[in-house]
Order: sequence, then C-alpha cells, then structure tokens
Amino acid sequence: MILPVYTYNHPVLKTSTARIDDMSDELNEFIRDMFETMYNANGIGLAANQVGKGLAITVIDTAESEDADEADRPLVMINPVIEAFSDNELEFEEGCLSLPDYHDKVVRPSEIQVRFLDEHMKEHTREAGGLLARVMQHEIDHLNGIYFFERLSPIRRTLGNGKLKRIARGDIEPAYPVFQSP
Ligand code: ZN
Repeated sequence: MILPVYTYNHPVLKTSTARIDDMSDELNEFIRDMFETMYNANGIGLAANQVGKGLAITVIDTAESEDADEADRPLVMINPVIEAFSDNELEFEEGCLSLPDYHDKVVRPSEIQVRFLDEHMKEHTREAGGLLARVMQHEIDHLNGIYFFERLSPIRRTLGNGKLKRIARGDIEPAYPVFQSP
C-alpha cells in the first residue's frame, strides 16, 4: 500500500522517533508499505516519520547509483545509531520526499560506522561510504527530527526559506501522494 508522504512543516517530522523492541506482522507490513511508498516516489531512502509513524525505522535502496553494492539493497535499518564519523567531509546535493522540489548541497562526513537491527531484529555494525553513507545520515537525521536544510550554512538556509514557505502552504504538488499539514 502506498502511504502519503508527510511534508514540511508537519510536527511528526520534528519529533524524535521511538525505538522498536519487537518485530510483528503489523510492522513487517508497514516496512513493505514503506518500500512501496519510496519506490513509487522514486526515492532512495524513507524514514517512518515521513509517513506519519514516530518509529525508528528507515528503508534504503541505492540500486540506481553506480556504486551500489548489491548486498546493500534493499536495506532496512531499525534503531540505527551512527557510532563513528570520518574526519573527511564531502559536499553532495540532497533532496527529500518531505521537501518536494527543494535541493541543496549538504556537507557531511564521507564515511560512517552505523549500528542497527535488520527486519529480523538481528544486530549489524557496518561501515559505509559513498551514496549509502550519505542516505543513511539523511535518514537517521529524520529519525532524530532533523531536516537536511538544518545542516546548511546560515546563508544557504536563508536562501531556501521561500521554498520552505511554498512547501508548507502546499503550493508544490509532487507526483506522489502527500499528507498536507493542517
Ligand atoms: Zn528526507
């Protein structure tokens, strides 16, 4: 089932998400819905609060990218925590399904070490670089209530304010279903 994507400035996107202790049929179905929603919107990552559920779950599929490792996809991360960041940083253009039509270059560490549970509640610790590290950081930020534009320099952030206002007003209609904030 394709779920509506919650857009800026819905409060669920500013709320820290709750840890998952047990997997259930209901959660499994929700994860399937998250993938369906992400693929339908041509996204490569989606956090549970982007579809209105305050849970620490994110799904990622970077298959479209050149450096995608087949073993990495599709990826479910439950209760993810970034344990280490590289000193090396990279500037890369990001977009977000909750911020339709808003793109900007964000500086983030180029490599990370992340600990998470998979959909079978099995724990993994792994290192990631490239696009995967980028998407993981973007999605884990969502689970902590952080938008990518909050990582921009003050000047770049100011330049994006008009776009944010238009998104909040619902003036921008993406090609996928969205939940409009009241
Ligand atoms: Zn996003």
